[in-house]
Amino acid sequence: MKENSEVYYILDASGLINGFIPFTKLNFTVPEISYEIKDLKSKLAMNEAMNSYYLTIVEPREKCLNKMKHIISKSGDELRLSIADIKLLSLALDFHSSGKNVVVITDDYTIQNTLKILNITFKSILTDGIVNIYNWRKFCRGCMKEYPNDYSFDECEICGTKITKKRIK
Ligand SMILES: [Zn+2]
Repeated sequence: MKENSEVYYILDASGLINGFIPFTKLNFTVPEISYEIKDLKSKLAMNEAMNSYYLTIVEPREKCLNKMKHIISKSGDELRLSIADIKLLSLALDFHSSGKNVVVITDDYTIQNTLKILNITFKSILTDGIVNIYNWRKFCRGCMKEYPNDYSFDECEICGTKITKKRIK
C-alpha cells in the first residue's frame, strides 16, 4: 500500500449509528443519510464529529448522480435503493472518479453489490468488526484532568475550566 493516497471514508447510516468515525478528518456522508440518524446518542456523536470537522456532509456532483442512476437502472437494483443510498453511492463514484482512495462503510448488501460493480472498496461494520474503533473521553483543557464519560458537570471540579471531549483509540 502506498502512503501517499489518503483514504476518504464515506459513511452509510449503519456506520454513523454504530459510532464509526475513523481517526481521520476525511469522513463524508450525504444530507439524506444524516437525516436517517434518529437516536439521540448517534445524533450527538454525529454532531460532535461535524463540529470538530471529523465528518463533512456533502452533495455529490449532479453528473455523478445521473451516472449512478443510469448504472443502477441497468443492474436492476433501483427498487432496492433509497434516494439516500443512491446519493451515497453517487458520492462514492464522485470521489472515486476524481482519483481519490475511497472506502465506503456500509452494511447494506445492495449498496455493497453496486460498489462491487464500480470496483470501489467497502467495509461492513458487522462483518469487518470495526465497531467502536474510537471513543470520546472528557477532559479539562485547563489542568488536563480526565473525567469519566458520565461526569455530568460542564466545568472542571479543580480549576473550573469548561470540560471538553477528545477522541481516544
Ligand atoms: Zn481543570
